[in-house]
Amino acid sequence: MTTDSTLTLRAALQAGAAVLAEAGILDAAVDAELLAAHVLELSRGGVQAAVVTGRDLNSQEAAAFDAAIARRAERVPLQHITGRAPFRHLELSVGPGVFVPRPETEILAQFAIDALAAVPSPRPLAVDLGTGSGAIAIALATEVPHARIVAVERSADAYRWAARNVARLTDGNLELRHGSFADALDDLNAQVSVVASNPPYVPADAIPRDPEVRLHDPREALYSGEDGLDDIRTISRVGLRLAHSGGMIVLEHGEWQGQGVRDILTSDGWVAAATHADLTHRDRVTTAVRP
Ligand code: SAM
Ligand code: GLN
Repeated sequence: MTTDSTLTLRAALQAGAAVLAEAGILDAAVDAELLAAHVLELSRGGVQAAVVTGRDLNSQEAAAFDAAIARRAERVPLQHITGRAPFRHLELSVGPGVFVPRPETEILAQFAIDALAAVPSPRPLAVDLGTGSGAIAIALATEVPHARIVAVERSADAYRWAARNVARLTDGNLELRHGSFADALDDLNAQVSVVASNPPYVPADAIPRDPEVRLHDPREALYSGEDGLDDIRTISRVGLRLAHSGGMIVLEHGEWQGQGVRDILTSDGWVAAATHADLTHRDRVTTAVRP
């Protein structure tokens, strides 16, 4: 085997991006750079710099890059190939069996962090219901280090990913539980300042178009009954029991579900229900306060 090659990184990236674009991937050039970064153990900026300085790929690197491109062209999620998903300042470990954290959930995390940081207590308590990889809970634990966080996850596969991330990224203020948010936190009744959740909220018949989501995110992370709001109905009632007076609930939902979520929260007894838009002006987070 030769380590010399005439293939430049620039040419490999162009060819890889063309394969990904042909497979229907929108940000094909970005994904090609991120896969090259993974294979070459560089940052994305490092890849861009290496292109400018005319770096070549040896045959092993070229083969590894081609293999990664081929998997991505089969619409395996980028994050399953790299094993990593960025979330705020974190790099979470992810793979088959766990929901890949989404950038829009960073906004929910911001509401929860701001509310938790403002609680006038030396050790306020927050919960994350359906923690998946642990994204929201670990962001809370690391960005509000004086707080205590309890996260719960029902899926055994997802729980394993969360446990790995919690061990690697947190420092003793996050407790992870394996069970259902319907009843796994009964010992925390009336003690919680912030109830945060990105629950399943996709209506049963709204099958996601992207194969990455449809084929690779766990079903139990996505679907929640006919209107997608079954888990939010449960979480509203459970949250009311967990929160103390003045405590806040912060929920992610689909862009057309704001009114439905506010109605559920208000009829259960939450007050000041308000829906907040993401950076693309879509209603994606609703907050409310326990009277
Ligand atoms: N919070 C993570 C995030 O934002 O990336 C994961 C969100 S994913 C959309 C919803 C998660 O809730 C999945 O991991 C799913 O397994 C979990 N889940 C669904 N029903 C649950 C229940 N009754 N109790 C605990 N976890 C549940
Ligand atoms: N936003 C997710 C999607 O891409 C759905 C997440 C959820 O149900 N919490 O389909």
